[in-house]
Amino acid sequence: MTTNLEPVQTFKILIIGDSGVGKSSLMTRFVHGVFHAPYNATIGVDFQIAIVNSGEFKCRLQIWDTAGQERFRSITNSYYRGADGIIIVYDVTDSETFVHLKDRFLEIQQFCDSDVPKILVGNKDDDNNQQNKSVLSDDAREFAEKHNLLFFEISVKNSKNVAEVFNAIARLALKRR
Ligand code: GDP
Repeated sequence: MTTNLEPVQTFKILIIGDSGVGKSSLMTRFVHGVFHAPYNATIGVDFQIAIVNSGEFKCRLQIWDTAGQERFRSITNSYYRGADGIIIVYDVTDSETFVHLKDRFLEIQQFCDSDVPKILVGNKDDDNNQQNKSVLSDDAREFAEKHNLLFFEISVKNSKNVAEVFNAIARLALKRR
């Protein structure tokens, strides 16, 4: 018999990417179900907890936001330590944020085991934003394949594919442990 008291595994999940791509918004959307947080979610918040209950499995995600570190210095070793999964975010309307993924990858390679699951996410793929899209889906897909990543285009604003991203990273983290 299963009960609500059944212990569940906890995974440390990092969200990384340039400032402004929507990392805090992504975390807030998933954890609190809202788009505009009632506070500045980036400042002073280390992580938030969310439960993933896919029906098939249940686990707890400790979701870390970079707390704005990327604005003034590179992300540190301690942030990456013990990561069970990494969500790498760019903005589909800002090709610079896609170009910078290469630097993020070098950082990840430096600080994380190579088998830590990683997911590539193109955010702001809003239905009404298609004319502003500057990163082609095919280019991003190619990058994801080259680096062996799952790939999602999402809209935190419209909730498109947000739950899918966290379900996928939870599934990969569970599989690895
Ligand atoms: P961070 O610096 O990566 O944490 O980015 P934020 O979460 O602070 O978001 C930066 C800006 O992008 C904010 O104005 C958000 O409202 C906006 N934003 C986040 N997600 C979306 C989205 O899916 N669509 C649109 N149009 N804007 C978004």
